[in-house]
Amino acid sequence: MPEEVKGYCVKCKAERVIKNVKITEVAGRRVAKGVCPVCGAEITHFLKKK
Ligand SMILES: [Zn+2]
Repeated sequence: MPEEVKGYCVKCKAERVIKNVKITEVAGRRVAKGVCPVCGAEITHFLKKK
């Protein structure tokens, strides 16, 4: 089951559960990338380190 990640959609100006989310690692930071389920805009969300 895929991880559920929330990110801020700049188009909706609201927090959304990111659709088709993919977790990548950039310079030691985890980055979630996907699209907004409502408007389809791209959402990029930086995840906090544990
Ligand atoms: Zn949106």
